[in-house]
Amino acid sequence: MTQYVSYVADEAAMVAMGRALGESCVGGAVVFLLGDLGMGKTTLARGVLQAFGHQGKVKSPTYTLVEPYDTARGSVYHFDLYRLADPEELEYLGIRDYFDADALCLIEWPARGEGVLPQPDLVLEIALQDRGRRLQWQPQTARGERIGKRLVELTERMV
Ligand code: ADP
Ligand code: MG
Repeated sequence: MTQYVSYVADEAAMVAMGRALGESCVGGAVVFLLGDLGMGKTTLARGVLQAFGHQGKVKSPTYTLVEPYDTARGSVYHFDLYRLADPEELEYLGIRDYFDADALCLIEWPARGEGVLPQPDLVLEIALQDRGRRLQWQPQTARGERIGKRLVELTERMV
């Protein structure tokens, strides 16, 4: 499987990275966001939502588990499953409806929903590196391959 890596120096660069990811994900996808607390998963999601034309705030759906956004460029669902005790709980949220093919689902802490979540198109992982972050992404499907490639093209233009 292809794997891409990029260094993201600061918060502004993380938002820009998110915008590039958003531009790469038009048409929908399931994206897993891995990395410890405070790595920048929600910051990245903020950039993605900006690319979809969302102007307002992006709050961390820590207690609600999912925040839906109805944007001009399609539906985006931002999950934070950190507090999910049991994957079964996702059924009560009616998550099946969220995973229709043309919605973009960004999922923080996907391991908490194992067995209930669909297979991701793309897995993104954020780790500390120097004063910034190391962002790594790995396509898992043909759709993910297209997104991953587009994202690397856009990030190469950013540096
Ligand atoms: P998570 O959702 O992964 O818990 P958040 O996005 O809520 O993380 O918070 C990440 C914190 O790290 C914020 O304070 C943000 O300013 C900072 N941050 C985000 N991206 C970077 C980066 N590339 N380099 C340095 N700091 C960053
Ligand atoms: Mg978060």
